Amino acid sequence: MKTTREFSAARRLAIERAAVFLGLTTIVYCGGRRAFGATKLAKSAVQYQNEPNAGKDCDDCIHFVPGATPKSAGSCKIIEGVVSAHGYCVAFTPKRL
Ligand code: SF4
Repeated sequence: MKTTREFSAARRLAIERAAVFLGLTTIVYCGGRRAFGATKLAKSAVQYQNEPNAGKDCDDCIHFVPGATPKSAGSCKIIEGVVSAHGYCVAFTPKRL
């Protein structure tokens, strides 16, 4: 039967290993993105269009970055170039309500 001290040591070891794993995972992920030149997708790759699709449009998507004013065009975190607030592509991901 394990003592409380043995459980504490085992718990500490598990936490340390988890921290090391998370740190290494972050380093590998960031290095990989840099090594492979993480770039945005071309509009044609995601069938971008300047009009909404069945009520779905960029300003309701989590990837949309609004422009300086509500009426100006914005950008997208994953698609290259300027996008319309009322555009749409197949990568549309709705914001949570
Ligand atoms: S992922 Fe597509 S729908 Fe979403 S903001 Fe970017 S271009 Fe618009």
